[in-house]
Amino acid sequence: QSKALGRNRYSFFEPAIGERLKEEMALFTHLRSAVKQRAFTLHYQPVLPQQPGLAPYAEALLRWPQGGSNASPGVFIPFAENHGLIEAIGDYVLDSACDFVARSRDAGLPQIVSINLSAKQLALGDLPAKLARQLQASGIDPSSVELELTESTLIQDLAAIGSILQELRAAGFRIAIDDFGAGYSSLNYLVELPVDKVKIDQRFIGSLAGNPRNQAVVEAILALARAIGVQTVAEGVETAEQLAFLRAHGCHYVQGYYLARPMPEADYLAFCRQSG
Ligand code: C2E
Ligand code: MG
Ligand code: MG
Ligand code: MG
Repeated sequence: QSKALGRNRYSFFEPAIGERLKEEMALFTHLRSAVKQRAFTLHYQPVLPQQPGLAPYAEALLRWPQGGSNASPGVFIPFAENHGLIEAIGDYVLDSACDFVARSRDAGLPQIVSINLSAKQLALGDLPAKLARQLQASGIDPSSVELELTESTLIQDLAAIGSILQELRAAGFRIAIDDFGAGYSSLNYLVELPVDKVKIDQRFIGSLAGNPRNQAVVEAILALARAIGVQTVAEGVETAEQLAFLRAHGCHYVQGYYLARPMPEADYLAFCRQSG
């Protein structure tokens, strides 16, 4: 009987595992050639200030065009991290985003950009030097570049991460913790890491309506950040009600479909001309 079960399991699972491996191999090959050909593009989503004296900026979001649609970075970025491709992709993003800043300045519409960094890129160690070379090559200033680190992917060696972030900050970059509140030790990051900004995870924003408990959580995050001199961004703002709540409670910046979607560079610059 156990033999029958064994054989059963064998014939049931083996093709499934084989299929998945085949798919992963195909994705790897496809992604690796996309990296070689720089077959990506960046879209830009406005991050808009809600208080006087703050400047709007753009979050750069990676897109991998696939015959009419885009593969989701939420899927292929983690895959790239796990298969040795994130460094090359990160280099592409850095290079393109810095060129965007230089181009927009030359066009008389100077922009500040924020770039998503994988924790793996930080772990490579030469990031500060790489960034310095990139800025020099593009002829731009570190004050026009912000770096976003996703909370949930920060590995536990906070002391090491902290000292790299300190170095980047001393060089003039602003540092934001992305998806804040979604990880395991959010408050610890605020204590241990030198950060300028937290981006409140969009699940907190999406669940605000009619939910006093979630409202209290967001209010508390905003108050805490204010008390320690860290700026706040709310991500995933999709309704007028969410926007009103965030404004009323002193959130510094908002970002979301209600205000604007991520868009190609030309559209983003048109958006800036229109609203500036
Ligand atoms: P993220 O950095 O937290 O970026 C915000 C995500 O929320 C983006 O998804 C954006 O398109 C989406 N979003 C913005 N406003 C709204 C809204 O109102 N409602 C909803 N439902 N979604 C909204 P996207 O572009 O698919 O990127 C997903 C994640 O992939 C990013 O999350 C980031 O962690 C990662 N990613 C994107 N580009 C890069 C990159 O260049 N490098 C790295 N390492 N990661 C990247
Ligand atoms: Mg981000
Ligand atoms: Mg992120
Ligand atoms: Mg986020």
